[in-house]
Amino acid sequence: MKLIVATNNKHKLSEINQILDLLQYNNIELLCSADFGKKIIPQETGTTYFENAEIKAREFFREFKISTIADDSGLEIDFLDGKPGVFSSCFAGEEGNHTKNRKKVIELLNKANLTEAKSRFRCIICYIDNNEKFFVEGTVEGKIIPEERGENGFGYDSMFIADGFDKTFAEMTDNEKNRISHRANAIKNLIEKLISKNIL
Ligand code: IMP
Repeated sequence: MKLIVATNNKHKLSEINQILDLLQYNNIELLCSADFGKKIIPQETGTTYFENAEIKAREFFREFKISTIADDSGLEIDFLDGKPGVFSSCFAGEEGNHTKNRKKVIELLNKANLTEAKSRFRCIICYIDNNEKFFVEGTVEGKIIPEERGENGFGYDSMFIADGFDKTFAEMTDNEKNRISHRANAIKNLIEKLISKNIL
């Protein structure tokens, strides 16, 4: 089946592609707006992952009329009551400035004298086609540290260590991260749900 990924984030797109490869799901052809020569920039005005994922999925589906998935995700730090959460990409006030966002988290950890803090990544995927709309979720538990390690990935990857590992996501290879990440777990749930609904 053809599936549009409603994102302008190249990292998310390539991760979803690699996750499907790892799961050996070759019968899903992923497309993005660039395949149609268009750039769509939905306004993420929601206050939950679910709202933002649905806004993105609806806007791309309206435009292309092809089954669409949209991922809204974030980092949740327990001692900050789950922040930055849905506001992960603009935590330091500037949309998509990952360097400033990481610096702000490091400052908050240092201020609280913490050398690590329990946290998790959460990913909500909204699926939409002509007949269906549903959500699936994936999380990965771990801790955030007040330093940056590694060069791979994006966002908060260089500060996040998943439970059971000692490398940050940015020190892992793409395959290592894509086997255990919140996005991988959400995609596994998506495939199960598509199969159970006879869409796949
Ligand atoms: P979204 O594009 O609104 O879903 O924002 C997601 C934000 O959450 C990103 O900009 C990152 O700051 C953070 N994030 C989500 N997933 C990941 C990940 O896999 N690694 C690192 N940061 C992530």
